[in-house]
Amino acid sequence: MAGFSAPAVWRGRTHRYRLVAGKCTSCGKLHYPPSYSCPYCGSRSMVEAELPRVGRLMSYSVVYSVPFDSKSRAPVILGLVDLGVARVISEITDASPEDVSVGMQVEAVFRRIAEDGGTGLIVYGIKFRPVKGA
Ligand SMILES: [Zn+2]
Repeated sequence: MAGFSAPAVWRGRTHRYRLVAGKCTSCGKLHYPPSYSCPYCGSRSMVEAELPRVGRLMSYSVVYSVPFDSKSRAPVILGLVDLGVARVISEITDASPEDVSVGMQVEAVFRRIAEDGGTGLIVYGIKFRPVKGA
């Protein structure tokens, strides 16, 4: 994936390493990933809110054609995870499509997200994996 620069990745590292949402102080809604303005009401008054790391898989889809990374990683499982206070869309990792089912417990883990072939820069971030024994 092209387009990553080291300073941009560096600035973003806090949000990539922790599961942090933006919380709007006007309407109180959470959104992930955080941004500088509220997608619900447009307010720019935002604070950080750390999200729970364990949630339930509400729905998922299996993507066989992966535009943003090497074909060798396909299929990719994209899940909608309900964390109670917020819902996040994330890749489901450490699992095959047949291992995944709606309602299963998943937990946030730290994984490689993309690699910039030009610079060798590797970008890490949050993905979710099935909770073993759940
Ligand atoms: Zn708002």
